[in-house]
Amino acid sequence: MKNSFYQYNFQELTQLLKNRDLSISGASLLYNWHYKQKQIDPCTKNLSLTTQVFIKEYFTFSLPKITNVHQSDDSTVKFLMQMEDGLSVETVLIAFQNKYTICLSTQVGCAMKCSFCFTGTQGLKRHLKTDEIVGQFIVANRWLRENRPDDQLLKNIVYMGQGEPLHNFDAVKASCEIFLDQHGTSIGAQKITISTAGYLPGLIRWNEEMPGVNIALSLHSPFENKRNQLIPINKNYPLPEILKYLESIPLKRKQYIIYEYLLIKDFNDSIEDAHATGELLKGKQAIINLIPFNPFPGSTYARPHKTQIEQFQKIIESYKLPALIRGTKGDDILAACGQLNTKASL
Ligand code: SF4
Repeated sequence: MKNSFYQYNFQELTQLLKNRDLSISGASLLYNWHYKQKQIDPCTKNLSLTTQVFIKEYFTFSLPKITNVHQSDDSTVKFLMQMEDGLSVETVLIAFQNKYTICLSTQVGCAMKCSFCFTGTQGLKRHLKTDEIVGQFIVANRWLRENRPDDQLLKNIVYMGQGEPLHNFDAVKASCEIFLDQHGTSIGAQKITISTAGYLPGLIRWNEEMPGVNIALSLHSPFENKRNQLIPINKNYPLPEILKYLESIPLKRKQYIIYEYLLIKDFNDSIEDAHATGELLKGKQAIINLIPFNPFPGSTYARPHKTQIEQFQKIIESYKLPALIRGTKGDDILAACGQLNTKASL
């Protein structure tokens, strides 16, 4: 059986060639060809015939298929991407001026069942493989080049699509290693952010194993009872434990832990909620992203009024914490935070 080329990090690829007594320079050539030059057909240039035969026999270069594209008025693009077994995930390109951030999915569905999230209503079907995560990036980049040639290609990656990234730790970590590699896409660690709902087994592994990318925690409330309602895994992995592990992550100068706070009308948007959040995070190397709730079909929550959101922001800032109100980009096509659901894209 053949193996996807897109699952191998540079060292593994080098080792594969070495094990077969092939020139290890082939690894740089292949990374350059597929990740820098963004070619999808097998490389034949500057490779020995034996290496070419090996590549043909050992690898497949198949990628997820785009089966649906929704384009928002604000230039956000949501793709439905079908994997080889027929299951699909959503991938979103978030536009800012003519630059893009890609929001990658890491699982088909999600096991975490957060009450504010459309994906959570799907349940977990399976983890995505490394090549399926990397594949979303490659396919979206190609789409951009073909459809918006004047815009710049992808500059930032966020793991905030469908799935809990740390629940699929190995594949997420391997995909980061591939994105970071200087022989290929060479995306800086500061341009990659992995978001977690607070999946402790993954956080415990983070320090030892994850390359120095950014981490974002879905905080959503400083109070255990409210967090339990929003993020059921909080009952198993309570906030103080999560914060303990987050604080142990070594940060570079100018690197921050990102705390995502979904603002839900009359639930977690009060003055008391804002002060408790400020108290909890004050003094930390933190950025707080305030995300007004994005409604989806069947959701019982609502978005707070603008003045309430701004008041919340001011209170957080009074604790000398940077608080940004995140736009609700792509909400008209259900591509905003918490709105992804494969069935809604069909
Ligand atoms: S918010 Fe994230 S972790 Fe929670 S159910 Fe949705 S996809 Fe899963």
